[in-house]
Amino acid sequence: MPKPTPNKVQSSNATRLMRIQARPGSLVEARHYRYPQTGWVQPAALAQGIPPDASADLVFHGGKTVPQMEFQNVFLGGQASWLASDIDSINTAITLAMQDRKLNNVVKQYFDSGVNLTCDARPLLVLEEAKPVQLDEPDVQQLVVRLLQQGKVPDNDLGTTIFNLVLPPGTVLKLDQDNSLGGLGGYHGSVHFEQNGRSQTAYYSANVFSQTLPNGQANGIPAFDASWKDVVGTLYHEINEFRTDADVRDAIATGNDDGVLGWMGGQGEVGDQPIAMAGQLGMLQRVFQEVLSSSGNQSVPVQFLYSNAVHGAEGPIDEPDPPAQR
Ligand SMILES: [Zn+2]
Repeated sequence: MPKPTPNKVQSSNATRLMRIQARPGSLVEARHYRYPQTGWVQPAALAQGIPPDASADLVFHGGKTVPQMEFQNVFLGGQASWLASDIDSINTAITLAMQDRKLNNVVKQYFDSGVNLTCDARPLLVLEEAKPVQLDEPDVQQLVVRLLQQGKVPDNDLGTTIFNLVLPPGTVLKLDQDNSLGGLGGYHGSVHFEQNGRSQTAYYSANVFSQTLPNGQANGIPAFDASWKDVVGTLYHEINEFRTDADVRDAIATGNDDGVLGWMGGQGEVGDQPIAMAGQLGMLQRVFQEVLSSSGNQSVPVQFLYSNAVHGAEGPIDEPDPPAQR
């Protein structure tokens, strides 16, 4: 039975859509986001020039979070669809970003103090199958299940692993009535299936190769000066949402938030408010940034995440934020 408490209403609005990444100003975004109309009185949060908005703080609903995780990138369309250097750059950069100490100092606030965040990369797979023209969520789910059943990706530790499908240039990603030509950048979810008589759950994300197409139309969210960087920004968004809110799709599907949803705010999951707010202010580049990795010798393109500590998007920091209130 629905409980008409403010919190419930707020999270239900948010969960309807927030496992997606949407381009600011796009039709997809307009359908999915609502902005506070009140003026801002405070100066910048850590993403420079973007005012704090405590009403967007994430709330923990008791669901699954994944402090120790693995991921595997699956590049669709075969080698022929890709520059080898793009595959290499994407895989290297997202691995660095997910393991980066200063970036993880932001994410740590959503986990018990003392918990170590780890994220191990499995060897990437370039899937030698025809490049899909478009990919809808049922296609995504079927593909992930098939790869597992055919043994093309390992099926151990499924509960703490996310399979990231990376779409090749030109492939359109769909979700219900939305698609990447309308501003959809990616989404994450889970699929339940039977294997050897056992019910299993696999986690996935789908990620657009964002670019401006030859006809001038944007596919996905072109924010950086190179599409491979956009892909890394999207992966960083989705993988961190898996970390902090793994079962959001189940919550949406069942209408049951309590004990299913992880960290979710009035404007979505950990990746969502920063992109919406920056887009609204015309400052997308403030949250899509190349940052120097903690090891200090490589820059990595990421999309800044929402931090309860500063009530807004926050980039890499030297010391962990205080734990977010539960
Ligand atoms: Zn999101």
